[in-house]
Amino acid sequence: MNELSTPTAVEPSSSDAVVHREALAAFVEFAATALEVRCALADGVATLDFEHREHPAWPRPYQTRVAVASEKIASPPRKVTSPSDGSHWLWNLATLELGALVAHPTSQPESVHEFSSRLFGAYRVENGQMHLAGCHLIDVPFLRATTLAADDPAMVEHRYFDQTMQPVSESYLQQLGLSDIAPLTFQSSPLSRPQVETLARQCDTAGERFVALTVIVAKRAEGALQFDIGDQCARVRFHDWTRTLTAPAFHCAASGMDTFHLAAIDDGRIVAAEAVANCEESGVRVLESERVTCSVTGKHVDPRLAAKCPVLGEWVLKDQMATCRACQQSVSRLALEGGVCRACRELPLAKPTDTWVAGLRETYPVLKKYRKFRAGKLGDLVRVMASGWWRRLLLVTAGENGPLVLLARREGLAGTWEKVPPSEWQSVLGAKAPDNE
Ligand SMILES: [Zn+2]
Repeated sequence: MNELSTPTAVEPSSSDAVVHREALAAFVEFAATALEVRCALADGVATLDFEHREHPAWPRPYQTRVAVASEKIASPPRKVTSPSDGSHWLWNLATLELGALVAHPTSQPESVHEFSSRLFGAYRVENGQMHLAGCHLIDVPFLRATTLAADDPAMVEHRYFDQTMQPVSESYLQQLGLSDIAPLTFQSSPLSRPQVETLARQCDTAGERFVALTVIVAKRAEGALQFDIGDQCARVRFHDWTRTLTAPAFHCAASGMDTFHLAAIDDGRIVAAEAVANCEESGVRVLESERVTCSVTGKHVDPRLAAKCPVLGEWVLKDQMATCRACQQSVSRLALEGGVCRACRELPLAKPTDTWVAGLRETYPVLKKYRKFRAGKLGDLVRVMASGWWRRLLLVTAGENGPLVLLARREGLAGTWEKVPPSEWQSVLGAKAPDNE
C-alpha cells in the first residue's frame, strides 16, 4: 500500500539539511545497479554501458566512461568524461526508466514475517495462543538529493528530505536507516513510476552540481496482536516503522498494569499474570486487587464468595453470615448475639414524636397503642421497634418515609422474633390511615 501526499512545488531548503558525503565512485556504482546498467571500476574510471537491444528507447551513447578519482578528473584520459557529464548520462536514464533512483534502507524489514517473530517472542501467554489480527505495511517515501561536492570533485553530497520537502534530522536518518540504502530496480520498487515522478518534481534538479534524486522507501507497519485464552481474547495495537517496531505492552485494564505476561482468571478475563492471586477459600484464580479480606476468617478471598455485612460494614465470607431473627438481614456472625444483629439490639430509644416513629404512627394508627419506641437508621434501612406489654413489633422501611419492607414480631417474655409474611401485615398493623392528600 502506498501513501503519497499531493506534491507541493517547494525548493529544498538545503541549508538546514543534514549532509552526508560519499565517494563519487560508490555513488556511480549504486546508480548503475538501480538502473541495471553494467558498471566496471578500474584505475579511477567507471565504465558504464547497457545492452541497447534490451532498452530500445534509451538514447545513445550506449557506453560512457566517467572519471571518478581526483587525478583522473583533473586530467581525464582520452574519451573519459567529467563527473558532471557522466552523472547527467545516468540521470537521463533514471528519468526515462524509474522517474528517479529508488532505494530502501538495507536494514529494514520488508515483510510481516521478518518482524512478527520479534513481536511474538516478547509475550508469554498462559494456557493460550497469540496471533496477528491484521497487519498492513505502508510505504513512506523520503527524498535524497545528490550533488557533486564543491570542494572535491571525487565526492558527492547527499541531503535528505521528507515528502513535504522538510529536511530530515540526523537522529531520524539513523532511526530509519536512511543513510544505508540499497537500490531497488523497476521490478522491485513498491512505488509506481508516476508516484516517483510526482516526488521528483518537488526537487530542484536544475542545479549546476545536481547529480541525481533518490526516492528512499521506508516502511511502517500497522496492526494488532491478539491473545486467545479460553473463549476470551485481548488485543494490543502497534504502529511503527518496521525497522524500529517493538512489541507493545499489554495494558491490563482491571489491574492498571502494563505487562508482557498474560493469563486468564476464573471469570474468563485476560489480565496481567502478575496481578493474579488465588482465592484462599476456593483456590480459584482471581485478581489480587479484587480479593477481599473476610473479617471473620481473615482469608483473602474471591469477592463472589463474600458480601459486605450491612451492620458491621466489613467483608465476610457468605458462609460466615447468618440471618438476624429480628430484621431478617443476612449479617456477619460477628454481628449476631442471640440470633439478633447488633443494629436491632442496639436501637436507641426514641420519642413517639421523633420523625421516623411519628411517620409510622400516622400511617399505622395501631402503633399509637404502643408506649415505648426505639429507632435507628443503618444504610438505607430505617428500623423502628415498638414495645407493648406483651408484643413487640419491628418495622423496617426503605429509607425515611419509604415503603415498609419487613415486619417482625415477638410475643411474650420468652418469645423469639418471627417474620410476619406480607399477606398478614394488614391483620397485624390494621388498615393504613388514608393519605392526607
Ligand atoms: Zn437485625
